[in-house]
Amino acid sequence: MDYTKILSEITSELTEVIGKGKVADYIPALAEIDSSKFGMSVSTINGESFSVGDVDEKFSIQSISKVFSLTLAFSKLGENIWKRVGREPSGNAFNSLVQLEYENGIPRNPFINAGALVITDMLITTLKEPYTELLNFVRSLSDSRNINYDKRVAQSERENGFTNAALVNFLRSQNNIQNDVEKVLDVYFHYCSITMTTKELAKSFLFLSNHGLIPDKKQRVLTKSQAKRINALLLTCGTYDEAGDFSYLVGMPGKSGVGGGIAAIIPNELSVAVWSPALNKKGNSLAGIKALELFTTKTGMSIF
Ligand code: GLU
Repeated sequence: MDYTKILSEITSELTEVIGKGKVADYIPALAEIDSSKFGMSVSTINGESFSVGDVDEKFSIQSISKVFSLTLAFSKLGENIWKRVGREPSGNAFNSLVQLEYENGIPRNPFINAGALVITDMLITTLKEPYTELLNFVRSLSDSRNINYDKRVAQSERENGFTNAALVNFLRSQNNIQNDVEKVLDVYFHYCSITMTTKELAKSFLFLSNHGLIPDKKQRVLTKSQAKRINALLLTCGTYDEAGDFSYLVGMPGKSGVGGGIAAIIPNELSVAVWSPALNKKGNSLAGIKALELFTTKTGMSIF
């Protein structure tokens, strides 16, 4: 497969689309990002990588971090995590409060904010150093030491994250948060503020294409069964309330973030990361979805 050619075709077909949509401005630090950026990287399980565009620029991974926190919690706590969070698509916005009240404080899945707040709470209880350990985990997945929190973005969200504060307080009132709510919010906002390049992000998802094993290090992150299950959740819940359309158009398990990134995988083959900050109405990167749709069309790849 000539990935270099495919990536350059995708970029030229998207010239009219890149920049369309709206950057996330409910987090003021994200509102400043240039909406014309676009980068896309592919990593194969054979150790090859291919990239096009702004692929060395760090961007805010936001909700893509929910895959890393879930993976770490799942590897430490196993099936116990499902006592406090569900595995169903939400069909609601990622930060919805309504459903959480109806469902007595058990979030629908770990990829909406309420679910990720519960997973963060589990990690605070389980890890000695929840800030450092998650960061080191992502560094090892992506094989890059140069991955850090963006303190300015974390702070910006801390000052404006009123909906997340409401979610965590409601969860606490339903006994589904064990730690101090301020601490849970702070750790959660730090996780969301991680910055990565598309090259690093593609690499960090490769263990999900490779049955839970980091290909070049032969390091096991999850069991084969756990990796399969995370992929099932990515497909059904990874792109907010647009997961059905994403499966229909793209056909890959993937996770998006309001920073404009999307990371997705094809089992036994590859992982791909795309970044374009302008979002559609559901909060997914508009050009990013289009790029992945073109990628699966041109390569003929799909999990179906
Ligand atoms: N930090 C963002 C929030 O909690 C993440 C949202 C997202 O990327 O979906 O609102």
